[in-house]
Amino acid sequence: MKTIAVLTSGGDAPGMNAAIRAVVRTALDKKFTVMGIERGYSGLINGEMIPMERRSVADIIQRGGTILKTARSEEFKTENGRKKAVQMLGKFGIDSLVVIGGDGSFRGAQELSRMSIATVGIPGTIDNDLPYTDFTIGFDTAVNTVLDAINKLRDTSTSHERVSVVEVMGRNCGDIALYSGLAGGAENIILPEKGYDQDKLCKNILEEKIKGKLHNLIVLAEGIGGAEALAKKIQEVTGIEARATKLGHIQRGGSPSCMDRILASRFGYRAVELLEEGKTSRVVGIKGAKIIDLDIDEALSVPRYFDDKLYKIANALA
Ligand code: ADP
Repeated sequence: MKTIAVLTSGGDAPGMNAAIRAVVRTALDKKFTVMGIERGYSGLINGEMIPMERRSVADIIQRGGTILKTARSEEFKTENGRKKAVQMLGKFGIDSLVVIGGDGSFRGAQELSRMSIATVGIPGTIDNDLPYTDFTIGFDTAVNTVLDAINKLRDTSTSHERVSVVEVMGRNCGDIALYSGLAGGAENIILPEKGYDQDKLCKNILEEKIKGKLHNLIVLAEGIGGAEALAKKIQEVTGIEARATKLGHIQRGGSPSCMDRILASRFGYRAVELLEEGKTSRVVGIKGAKIIDLDIDEALSVPRYFDDKLYKIANALA
């Protein structure tokens, strides 16, 4: 009988709990033994294992964060650290591992598969920066959190006739900014994938103001700069009051959206199915409406993709 372990690693994302729940309950349904590993690869090295029952994952589908906690581990990046991790898996009789995390966590999973550990990865990151899949768990919830903030900032910016610069997360990926900017009707969306001309932006803001525009909402992805510096520059050049808001870690929290809960449930179910079928060194994802799986090496070498059409639409409608 298989013993499957599950861990969450790297940045937390809403919906990770729903994925843990799906992995645990699917595996139990298939009569596997399931262990939860706390604090990602760090907990794996230290043997922080807990047996998981159906009830261990009760009442968590609606909760943000991760009940298994998450961590970053420098030790795991070393060969010695990974050897300890493999030994620990052996000690607890674990033959398969499900890793829920982002790009870094997948690189860790890739190393473990190279050491003959049966591994399957589930993409969990708000950044949506894994190009082999259309969406990652947590992205939709994060975008909705940003959207809520944009709606509120729009009210106050309009009342004060200000420029509002909202800085959102995403590391080097502009997807959170692009989706929230389009859905929130932002006047300008600034992304690392596209770059921008600051002088041109200031000129446009001034022209729009002269035409009678009451506010100008700018969504700025963190990968291309800081909101504070940009707001200062706009105010200096245009003379229009400009305020910066950095949304920060609130983007990582909150109850997962329906989309993220369903995505996490489908991913978790498929991950266990793959292990049951003896397919390892795989990652699950979604393309169109279909759940897919790919070899982990292949998945990590898919080049970055940017949705130019969506960007065009956002600009046309702004
Ligand atoms: P995320 O998974 O959200 O991208 P990180 O990049 O911080 O988060 O990665 C999470 C953890 O994965 C790291 O702390 C480290 O233990 C492990 N990891 C990251 N990159 C590698 C790598 N190249 N080789 C082995 N382990 C890695």
